[in-house]
Amino acid sequence: MGKAVVAVAAVVSLAALGGGAAPPRAEGGACTLAPGALTVDDLPAGSSVLDCEAVGRLVTHAGAGVTVPGPGMKVSVDALTEDGSLHGFTLAVAADGTVSYDDLTDADTDADAASAHAHAHARASVAAAPGRARAACADDAYATAGHKEYDTYEWFLGDGTLPGNLAPDDARRALEDAIGTITASRNDCGFGDTVTAKARFLSRTGNEADIDRDARCMARDGVSVWDAGDLSRGVVATTCSWSRAVSGGPDSLREADVRFNTRDYTFTDHPGEACSNTYDLRSVATHEAGHVFGLAHVGESHESQTMYTNSFACSTTARTLGRGDVLGLRALY
Ligand SMILES: [Zn+2]
Repeated sequence: MGKAVVAVAAVVSLAALGGGAAPPRAEGGACTLAPGALTVDDLPAGSSVLDCEAVGRLVTHAGAGVTVPGPGMKVSVDALTEDGSLHGFTLAVAADGTVSYDDLTDADTDADAASAHAHAHARASVAAAPGRARAACADDAYATAGHKEYDTYEWFLGDGTLPGNLAPDDARRALEDAIGTITASRNDCGFGDTVTAKARFLSRTGNEADIDRDARCMARDGVSVWDAGDLSRGVVATTCSWSRAVSGGPDSLREADVRFNTRDYTFTDHPGEACSNTYDLRSVATHEAGHVFGLAHVGESHESQTMYTNSFACSTTARTLGRGDVLGLRALY
């Protein structure tokens, strides 16, 4: 008797939360998903990963994808793109198996791409002007992703080819420096460091970042790895972060992997006068480390911030933080 009431309630809540999308078939509490990669419409907010047996399945949206984690876990994918188009979202599974999403954006439009391109030029000219630092230091915009590292972020360096073809020690130093910019909230604005975030490099590893060629987050292996490889064209680097729900606070980071797309882009630790179509490794790495520690993107008109949506070839300005980046970290730590 009580069981029948529960089943009806579940169907009602699916219909209520599923929006315009057709919810997965729910018959007597069961839910059948088609084989292959799912879209967010196949597994809408409010559906249950338990009823649908969705744990471990790939869910894609607007050129990004994540593998469904178990109850109580959240996974975020953040792609740093060449043109500023957004590829990233968060899938959270509540303790009872209920799915929710964050940052579901519509597919890219020409207007977005044109606007991002205009901003890329704007930043390039701003970067050359003496007023650049003032712009970065005057903008207090930031966004947080809902997780933080409560302890020490322990990370490994992949044992394959490294960005910029750097020797392992040089790559480790560059990445350690970039991660340190986040944990020490380094900036050129004169803001002191009150951020308590901590990180530690452990060693090289045969494990890989759990990110596939389409820049989608695969099942996590429990090891936080920074490495290089192939990602979708247009995606310069991708961060996948996994966190566990904490009552009354941001989720607790369990793992974060970062991959640089060295198949389609070149990176350098020394962008100079002759730099062209090459990404500054430390700038990109600092932005990705921001994601690891819980910062999300800031959009249009915030291009002086390290957490701006897109990356700029040859620019080193994201190596140090802007006012908003610092305020975001202070809000979390
Ligand atoms: Zn990003």
